[in-house]
Amino acid sequence: MPKGIVYLVGAGPGNPELLTVRAKRLIETAEVLVYDYLVHPAFTHILPADCEQICVGKRKGFHSKKQEEIQEILLAKANEGKRVVRLKGGDPFMFGRGGEEAQALADAGIEFEVIPGITSAMGASAFSGIPLTHRNTNATLVFVTGHEDPEKLDTTVEWENLPKENSTICVYMGVGNLDRIASRLVESGFSEETPVACVEWATMGHQRVCRGNLSTISEVAKSFKLKAPAIIIVGETAAMSEDLSWFEKKPLQGRKLVVTRSQGQASELSSMLEKLGAEVIGLPLISITGNVEPQTAEDVFSEIASYDWVVFSSPNGVRYFFEAFFKKFEDIRSLGFLRIAAVGKSTAKEIKKYYVTTDLIPEQANAESLAEALVATDSLDSAKVLVVAGNLGRDVLLDKLEEARAIVDRFEVYKTEQTDLSENPAAKMFRDQGADGILFTSSSGVRSFIDQAKHLQLAGEAVRPKTISIGPITSATMQQIGMPVDLEAKEASLDSLVEAVVKRFGK
Ligand code: SAH
Repeated sequence: MPKGIVYLVGAGPGNPELLTVRAKRLIETAEVLVYDYLVHPAFTHILPADCEQICVGKRKGFHSKKQEEIQEILLAKANEGKRVVRLKGGDPFMFGRGGEEAQALADAGIEFEVIPGITSAMGASAFSGIPLTHRNTNATLVFVTGHEDPEKLDTTVEWENLPKENSTICVYMGVGNLDRIASRLVESGFSEETPVACVEWATMGHQRVCRGNLSTISEVAKSFKLKAPAIIIVGETAAMSEDLSWFEKKPLQGRKLVVTRSQGQASELSSMLEKLGAEVIGLPLISITGNVEPQTAEDVFSEIASYDWVVFSSPNGVRYFFEAFFKKFEDIRSLGFLRIAAVGKSTAKEIKKYYVTTDLIPEQANAESLAEALVATDSLDSAKVLVVAGNLGRDVLLDKLEEARAIVDRFEVYKTEQTDLSENPAAKMFRDQGADGILFTSSSGVRSFIDQAKHLQLAGEAVRPKTISIGPITSATMQQIGMPVDLEAKEASLDSLVEAVVKRFGK
């Protein structure tokens, strides 16, 4: 069997947008992914569905694999002929033991490549507004390990010989030893006034920065409850950060929000929240897959031009409808002269992607309002209406249209199923850390959250999230289930939901 290949890939400091193009390509085609605790769950969304995922831990206090075991896994998988992506936080050759892994591969005669990543000190620097070098004040740059063992400082580091003037010292793995490090630097001749900044969870939406100087930072960090992972930056530029802290100025920066989504789908809501600086955990509670029964499609499409209305009740319906449509037809004009209704703006936006204009959108984005708006057009008597739906769609719409004497056909184009969250990295992150808020955009989202509750139990120290609803229908479902509704959007739309979140959680 031909031997496989191992890519030692830097994942960057955490923010998924900071992955290199090369890293993204390799992840998208990986057969095996071996990753660390610090690697962001978003990476698993771009993995091929059949990729084997092996988490090798590396978190204080949690079960994790020993370095030798990790190396054995890499060798074993490569010997099976696999394309292995070994994804490591930051840069693989920066305090990441990437050198040892590369050596083990070289010794075993296995082909490997090393793909650099943005190291966390650089991420911390950029996202906190602390230049690592600066003309006249910071001319020497040092990356140094502070060692996580609180009992001792790393004996291989010559703390007393670090450059004391015009320098920036970036300490990795130093949180547990911060007071020792600060006093050691002062004993070695650093001025007590030297500015220090500690950047926790650098580049992530929940990044936090605390600032002080060598004499105060240890106390400051204590009251700030600074935790790993963090980078400690010592040097004059650390005092510049308040002016240059572009990231912390974003309204939702520092907030962690959970968005329930369907597997494999990029969420529009997530990117809206991320743009405002939030850290978003996308919980893939359900998977939505196209599910068009061939005979039904044949029946519907053979007389598509005879319908008066096509009604879409979700963006997914639009997507899978047109996917099926273009399998049968090549030209959008095959739709004929029918009119189109959408339950809300997001659905209409999806329709627009096919260069089709929506004729009717109700004021409120729910099935009742959609039915009422359609009835109000006075066009339903004996009209043929096609309702595009998933397997869980509510019957309210159909009933009301039939009451108005329309001839209604229901066209099911997708189905919704539960995903397995037990090993899912996003679910893990939620269980460990919790969140400030959890956003529900549909009743089915609420129900799948409850269905999956056993995989979403929060750890003792995790932050308990507020519950946020997109509108009255979703809120009603939440209340029925016994879940509080801490916040509701004014209008049932994503824009309005985000506005409500900014108002409540924003700076
Ligand atoms: N290879 C990694 C470093 C691994 S050592 C890199 O190039 O960044 C682990 C240390 O990296 C942590 O103790 C912490 O000091 C730092 N670190 C990793 N991710 C971080 C993040 N998002 N924010 C701040 N520090 C981080």
